[in-house]
Amino acid sequence: MQLFEKLIDYAQAVRLVLENTARLPVAWVPLMDARGLALAEDIAARFDSPPFDNSAVDGYAVRSADAAEAGRTFEVVDEAPAGRPARRSVGEGEAIKIFTGGVIPEGADAVVMVENTSGWGEEFELKKATTPGSNLRAAGEDVREGDIMLRAGTEIGAPEIALAATQGYGELPVYRRPRVVVLSTGTELVEPGTRDLSPGEIFDSNSFALLAQAREAGADARRLYAASDDADILKSAMEEALASADVVVTSGGVSVGEKDLVKGTLLDLGVEQVFWGIKLKPGKPVFFGTREGARFFGLPGNPVSAMVCAELFVRPALMKMMGRKDRHRPHIEVYFDEDVENKFGRMHAIRVTLNRTERGWRAESVGAQGSGLVSSLTKADALALIGPESEGVRAGEPVEAIVLREEVVLAQRPVN
Ligand code: AMP
Ligand code: MG
Repeated sequence: MQLFEKLIDYAQAVRLVLENTARLPVAWVPLMDARGLALAEDIAARFDSPPFDNSAVDGYAVRSADAAEAGRTFEVVDEAPAGRPARRSVGEGEAIKIFTGGVIPEGADAVVMVENTSGWGEEFELKKATTPGSNLRAAGEDVREGDIMLRAGTEIGAPEIALAATQGYGELPVYRRPRVVVLSTGTELVEPGTRDLSPGEIFDSNSFALLAQAREAGADARRLYAASDDADILKSAMEEALASADVVVTSGGVSVGEKDLVKGTLLDLGVEQVFWGIKLKPGKPVFFGTREGARFFGLPGNPVSAMVCAELFVRPALMKMMGRKDRHRPHIEVYFDEDVENKFGRMHAIRVTLNRTERGWRAESVGAQGSGLVSSLTKADALALIGPESEGVRAGEPVEAIVLREEVVLAQRPVN
């Protein structure tokens, strides 16, 4: 058994994680998989878009000079549905039936809506005068050939995907998603949904929570079966995880108990320790190490500690790997209505609810802060960070908080 040598600060731990984690290589991924990733290169328009003048409505393409006044009768000489240009041009007193997206035929310089005519037929009477260019969408009015339409670093969402598709891009260059493997440790763990618990057993919740968190950050994450505390089983599970992943996240077995074999196993497997132990509550025993391209997070077993540490350390690393600028959750200033003690000598990340008041954001503890209280996290809007140097904070004093539920803050935003 080994005891913690030296605990480091939360801020130092985040810094070390980021310093030891690089952006992943650029890969071209299909549009379907690009959502949420950051563009690795500027994307230029390959051609004017739309590529040709086309109709914005269903109606008739005409020469506007013929349609300057209502009352004239036009002869319909051809049609131009979307995708099939007309075979002939529009002469004086002639019209070509056209539908939204249809190519504007030679000779025509305006489209009259069918609603402004006597209707569909071999000929029609114009009910309303038109002007040059009306109901016409000009080639290049969206983007021009050579324009940089999307900048490197942009987070790809639906509009960016649409724009790339209009230019024929089937794939986009991105920093690829990190492959994450999540692994629980503990002989007491049972797979939820498979059977009832025997005495002393509990269901594995961490690996599901950590998987969800990794996916929420945009990673390509999978779960490995929960390993027992048997050294050999643990070792082969870790080896498997390390062989295939950019990031391995374990929970449990990383403290100073006799069954806490994670750290020793990792060191045996050639993982180099960057740190072990943080002045943080919940989450003191966190281990972080590297082995070539792989990053390893050994998170504590207590469910709240595991999830809080995934938020604080794993998420920023995943975001950095994906080239995302928004690596951190929003930080805001909050206050408490009463004095809050911190006698732990470690930074206390207190689960709180947030309420907007005239004075700012009032934080209120969700109640008991035990690191096994999974239900407490379902109530928390934010983590208020107290210490480690301070013995606590006074009522009303400003406290830094990490927002977990941005929607709560947005919904209560002050209205000016
Ligand atoms: P450990 O760090 O392995 O000593 O675990 C600390 C506490 O967290 C123990 O009560 C474990 O039973 C619990 N725990 C460990 N792993 C999990 C898990 N995957 N799901 C739920 N609870 C766990
Ligand atoms: Mg354990």
